[in-house]
Amino acid sequence: MAQARFQTADAKQVEAARAVAAALQRAGHQAFFAGGCVRDALLGRPLKDIDIATSATPGQVESLFAGHTVPVGKAFGVVLVLRGGFSFDVATFRTDGAYADGRHPDRVAFGTAEGDAQRRDFTVNGLFCDPSSGEVTDFVNGLADLDARVIRAIGEPEARFREDHLRMLRAARFASVLGFEIEPATRAAMARCAAQIRSVSAERIASELIRMVCESPRPSLGLNLLLGTGLLAHILPEVAELSGTAQPPLYHPEGDVWTHTCLMLDALPPPRLPALALAVLLHDVGKPPTYREEPDPGTGGTRIRFPCHAPVGADLAEAILTRFRQPSKLIAEVKALVAGHMRFVEAAKMRPAKLRRLMGEPSFPLLLELMRVDILHSNGDFSPWRFLKDAYESFRAEPVLPEPLARGRDVLAWGVEPGPAVGALLDELYDAQLEGRISTQEEARAYVLRRRPGPSAPPLP
Ligand code: ATP
Ligand code: MG
Repeated sequence: MAQARFQTADAKQVEAARAVAAALQRAGHQAFFAGGCVRDALLGRPLKDIDIATSATPGQVESLFAGHTVPVGKAFGVVLVLRGGFSFDVATFRTDGAYADGRHPDRVAFGTAEGDAQRRDFTVNGLFCDPSSGEVTDFVNGLADLDARVIRAIGEPEARFREDHLRMLRAARFASVLGFEIEPATRAAMARCAAQIRSVSAERIASELIRMVCESPRPSLGLNLLLGTGLLAHILPEVAELSGTAQPPLYHPEGDVWTHTCLMLDALPPPRLPALALAVLLHDVGKPPTYREEPDPGTGGTRIRFPCHAPVGADLAEAILTRFRQPSKLIAEVKALVAGHMRFVEAAKMRPAKLRRLMGEPSFPLLLELMRVDILHSNGDFSPWRFLKDAYESFRAEPVLPEPLARGRDVLAWGVEPGPAVGALLDELYDAQLEGRISTQEEARAYVLRRRPGPSAPPLP
């Protein structure tokens, strides 16, 4: 008999969950740890949530834990039970009715443990475990699939994907995060049903995709599944187009833009920050629309170029993440990273103030990391990157960017006319300050007085 060991970052969480299950059992109900937590315990992975499945009705759960429950999804039989500073989903065994919207059952009926296992998505997610003995109950042959490292739909795959289209993305995410294969019939059904994903909300699609690229040891596994089943062309056509977009072999011996992007993501250790993972995924989306073949005077043949692909890609990244209804802070961060991903090329020639401003941007460490894996999986010439990295190390050893010596009200007090030129003047003053040409407010004032337009304005220092 299989036994599961439950480990979380906090042993008290497992103890509290056991106590909830034990209280249900003492009251005469069945109670199991269920679903993802059993799968992860058997794989020796750290647990996130511990979900409990029980024969008790929601009403019985509420009266047993009176004062310590929240009716989060009573219609679906789910009650949140609070215990020891933790909260647990306690869900009544249920079978799902028809699915009219391609995402949620129209109604649910309470039933048996076996019926509850059958309505779950994949066999490895359909296991139950008795928390007191650790004994696993397997109605769906999930243990064998866990052993074989396979994601297999419970029941008839196409019917299961037709009920809830999001399950197709969940299959790809679990396969990618766990490093499992998708069983052939399940994978074939994903390919046949791929177009149905279009009716799932953009937020839910994005959240699966983001978890996949952030949590997978090798996101290329999941990305290739999405590409190969046709799902990617429906949810992210801009990225699907990277496949088959050729690059100049001299700079990109690794292959097309798709291969390059996959290798980059795989080179970042998980867990990845969403901003960085998305920026890597999207950094070259500007390449397909800017692809050009131009005569190459050197060889007499042609060469591939992607003029302005970084700014074009930044706009596309913004449009994609807006479509995915992502928070505006994340959108702005990813857009800036995509826009800036080629800046290492000019770094050595930048004026000191420009360089310091670039390094002072909050997402600069992520930009460095993006550039590192970009170079690692292209021509491998790290010298311009090393320059930027060294500059950043010394920059970090310095105090943070100083307060400006002069602000708008100061320059107005020194007689500058209000208007659009004030902003440009302040920028110029700050550059002079960052480059050490002025270091006191008096010098700032003198600078402004000399700078003020007029017939006798002296030349700048
Ligand atoms: P993780 O939390 O790491 O995403 P999980 O397996 O715990 O993995 P949840 O989304 O938390 O996934 O769902 C808990 C359990 O509920 C799953 O293990 C599965 O048994 C069931 N489940 C979740 N979503 C679905 C779905 N769309 N269709 C069928 N069963 C589902
Ligand atoms: Mg879970």
